[in-house]
Amino acid sequence: MTQEAKESDVLMKCTSCGVKIEAENRWVKFSCPKCSKQKIIRCDKCKRLMNAYECKKCGFIGP
Ligand SMILES: [Zn+2]
Ligand SMILES: [Zn+2]
Repeated sequence: MTQEAKESDVLMKCTSCGVKIEAENRWVKFSCPKCSKQKIIRCDKCKRLMNAYECKKCGFIGP
């Protein structure tokens, strides 16, 4: 087990609602538009509902 695999396990959660991302689910992953240091993960539900997300690094909140 590599450290990388462990880390991505932890990060595989929707940034908006905290739901665990499963492989079959539709979701998007992108970098924070402001600081581009934080990975933002959004599940299909939050995408459709346009739920806000918050960057934990810089505090940016946005859709
Ligand atoms: Zn979500
Ligand atoms: Zn940020």
